[in-house]
Amino acid sequence: MGSTIIVGAGINGMLLGALLAHDGESVTIYEKNRFTGGRAFLYERGGYVMDYGVHLTRFGPESALAKIMKRIGAGVSFKRLGTSYVIDKNGSRVVFPTSPFGIVRSDMFTLYEKARLFGLLFRIKKGALNDGLMDVSLRDWMNMNNVTGGFRRYLELLSASVMVCPFFEKTSAGEMFRNLNRVFATGHSAEYPAAGWKPVHAALIREIEKAGAINCGVRVDSVIIDRGKAVGVVAGGRRVMAERVVINVPVQELFTLMPDSAFSPAYVKMCRQLVPTSGIFFDIALDKRIADYDGLLYTYSPMTYGMITSNLVDGLAPEGGQVLTMLYPTSLEDVRDGALRIQRKDELWSAIKKYFPGIEQHILWMRESSLKMVDGAQVNTTQTEENRPGTSVPGVRNLFLVGDSISSPGAGGDIGNESVLAAYAAMTGNAL
Ligand SMILES: Cc1cc2nc3c(=O)[nH]c(=O)nc-3n(C[C@H](O)[C@H](O)[C@H](O)COP(=O)(O)OP(=O)(O)OC[C@H]3O[C@@H](n4cnc5c(N)ncnc54)[C@H](O)[C@@H]3O)c2cc1C
Repeated sequence: MGSTIIVGAGINGMLLGALLAHDGESVTIYEKNRFTGGRAFLYERGGYVMDYGVHLTRFGPESALAKIMKRIGAGVSFKRLGTSYVIDKNGSRVVFPTSPFGIVRSDMFTLYEKARLFGLLFRIKKGALNDGLMDVSLRDWMNMNNVTGGFRRYLELLSASVMVCPFFEKTSAGEMFRNLNRVFATGHSAEYPAAGWKPVHAALIREIEKAGAINCGVRVDSVIIDRGKAVGVVAGGRRVMAERVVINVPVQELFTLMPDSAFSPAYVKMCRQLVPTSGIFFDIALDKRIADYDGLLYTYSPMTYGMITSNLVDGLAPEGGQVLTMLYPTSLEDVRDGALRIQRKDELWSAIKKYFPGIEQHILWMRESSLKMVDGAQVNTTQTEENRPGTSVPGVRNLFLVGDSISSPGAGGDIGNESVLAAYAAMTGNAL
């Protein structure tokens, strides 16, 4: 068995580490933060267990994450969400459909729009839109197909949530339809671990520590490359050697670890310029049960969504309390600019109050976060799967990349989980 160093203990670094450790490989992870989990980190305070924003897994038991957990002997079961709602354009709360019955039931559409939506979903299910639309934006596709009214708003909201991209002029229509096709193929949409994320993280750490270590609070300064081969890292000022190195750091930051002069300008540009998804989100601890919703809660204007995680899983809040999380996907420019960021936070706050008018009285504490990177890659028409860097690094042997900015199928976090399968196959020759 060999030895592998992984730079970063984000969820994808840990998923790969656990797979390798399960095979008997010696795995050493270096994580610059004092805690594991990266953008999927978990926070506990006063009996409240919070994810970092909304954290659902697309395709639930059929996801890459489920496959990996099963492989390491820590299978995860998933919970389907209950009824989802949207506060629509006119301010009324209507069902946001996640099934054919939901479409029939929802007041979001006219009868004609319902018929057209069924027609589109039938074509998506058949895979008729899987190819050829990768570089067509959702907006252009909707315009070409005269998609209007509730039908259009529904696709826009799917773009904001499935693709984490509320910019329809950018979203790749082809990638979105492929994702929806996979929902039909697997029979599973976005789902939540039935016991929450805590046991998932705990199982990964346990597995890695059987045959290795996670060193938190240790930054990797550089990857050591010798004659075109990765042979170790400089971590915390010390040289540490291994047979293979995996980088779990988003590709935009790849060249903080290696000189860009060692790579082709086109590769460097592709990595550095990859646009992430960005967003503002509030995680709120409530001292009282204020609602029974167990599905996603959308608002159309502004385009936000979230859920009460503690209604899905017992134990995420103390008896009588609740955990609410709401995300406002927005642009990098909005998050970078101080004044715009404050404006977006106010808009998110007003969206939350549309569902919960008196919520202020029951907030025990809350986190307000704005992140330049929610997901590593916005799946827009210029950043589709084939336009992102792969798991192998050109010109450097024994160096692999994992994370949600890699060329793997899906959108958002599942890109990262799929990249773990690709890296594992490239490293070991084994497919899961
Ligand atoms: C608000 C929010 C909502 C989200 N919702 C969902 C969702 O519903 N579904 C979904 O699938 N995904 C969701 N995501 C995305 C998901 O969280 C990410 O895809 C995932 O966490 C990325 O994991 P990663 O391991 O690829 O990268 P990261 O989490 O970025 O991990 C990289 C790690 O490397 C460490 N690191 C960086 N540089 C160094 C260095 N030099 N030395 C050592 N360590 C280093 C970092 O500290 C970090 O821990 C959401 C994210 C956010 C923020």
